Amino acid sequence: MTLESNHRDIRESVARLCAGFPGEYWRRLDRARAYPQEFVDALTAAGFLAALIPDRYGGAGLPISAAAAILEEIHRAGCNAAACHAQMYTMGTLLRHGSAAQKQKYLPGIAAGRLRLQAFGVTEPGSGSDTTSLRTAARRDGGRYLVNGQKVWTSRAEHSDLMLLLCRTTPREKVAKKTDGLSVLLVDLRDAPAKNLTIKPLRTMMNHASTEVFFDDLAVPAENLIGDEGRGFGYILSGLNAERILIAAECIGDAKWFIGKAVDYAGRRRVFGRPIGQNQGVQFPIARAYADMRAAELMLREAARRYEMDECDGRDNGGGRHRESGRGYNHAPGEESNLAKLLAADASWAAAEACMETHGGFGFAEEFDLERKYREARLYRTAPVSTNMILSYIAEHALRLPRSY
Ligand SMILES: Cc1cc2nc3c(=O)[nH]c(=O)nc-3n(C[C@H](O)[C@H](O)[C@H](O)COP(=O)(O)OP(=O)(O)OC[C@H]3O[C@@H](n4cnc5c(N)ncnc54)[C@H](O)[C@@H]3O)c2cc1C
Repeated sequence: MTLESNHRDIRESVARLCAGFPGEYWRRLDRARAYPQEFVDALTAAGFLAALIPDRYGGAGLPISAAAAILEEIHRAGCNAAACHAQMYTMGTLLRHGSAAQKQKYLPGIAAGRLRLQAFGVTEPGSGSDTTSLRTAARRDGGRYLVNGQKVWTSRAEHSDLMLLLCRTTPREKVAKKTDGLSVLLVDLRDAPAKNLTIKPLRTMMNHASTEVFFDDLAVPAENLIGDEGRGFGYILSGLNAERILIAAECIGDAKWFIGKAVDYAGRRRVFGRPIGQNQGVQFPIARAYADMRAAELMLREAARRYEMDECDGRDNGGGRHRESGRGYNHAPGEESNLAKLLAADASWAAAEACMETHGGFGFAEEFDLERKYREARLYRTAPVSTNMILSYIAEHALRLPRSY
């Protein structure tokens, strides 16, 4: 018994959609490092990527637990939502901190899938986990900003119309706190001249559509500033709990896929005249992975429950469940969201290992899909936030130990 009664109808319809995208589809794309456009189109047409957009802007106005159920089922089916998961949640920064005019201009198009907002430019080669030391700068020049600098690991930039960009508008030396002076710009990639914006694909361990992005005096209209200049770091932070919860859901889906495959193979594969799954040496790692997955799943549900309590706050704010602005940043529930992401990424990796071990040599064969999922699952111990950074967060915020960096 697991917690799948949660959003059962949504889960069933996601599973039906995913059945049309079997292992062979993903294997072919993986070999070519190609984008799963048909899969993304099918999710868009079904409305799944607009789950979190309030219905007043044309979205489904669903709670975060429903979005988590969608992503979990995609991964449980052996598919991969990384090509488009950011379309679900990157808009949260615009929703919470954008002006009414910006929301009216962009959110209906994003909800309908006409506009893709799934590129998120934070990480830079020189800053890494130390976000506030990023150097990409936007200088005000009349009615526009001129952006110069470089981002790395900007996933899906080639498959996005808009990019949410975190950059410095005041040099770090001139601000009292290093978190000040950072701003968020909504960059329209469709308008960008090639001489001012270069996107270079990065070939990675798995098929992920990640890129390097170079800005050379790229002009961005000042009206594309989200919220107040200099307060962008807080705006980005306010979206991180949703991201942690949704990535944790993908990890739980991956863990269930690995455990399902391992159990199936352990029951079928006969060595020494009996199923390998009869040996405790084979059973126990799978049973341990199942225990880890169930514990992580409970933490994920708790994080989603607290997130929804905080978002709803007992009232509907205009056709959707998501608070658009008001009481500062949404930092709740930081502890549970971080723990869910940490435990789910670990559980999925333990399940990947157990599944690989169970399959012996066949785990390495492309046609089993396991080696592909294995490569894909490893990412979430590193991105979007590394395990060490979560442990630092827990040490500082839950245990009140001194900040270590
Ligand atoms: C495939 C992929 C897709 C990505 N997509 C995006 C994206 O779309 N947009 C975006 O902005 N970024 C993206 N990222 C970047 C990702 O968020 C970072 O890789 C991640 O946050 C880690 O940063 P880093 O790689 O610079 O590692 P570093 O910060 O250089 O850290 C390296 C290692 O040292 C550890 N470490 C560093 N400092 C400390 C410390 N004080 N205490 C303990 N350990 C420490 C880290 O945990 C890590 O294990 C992506 C990355 C990958 C690999």
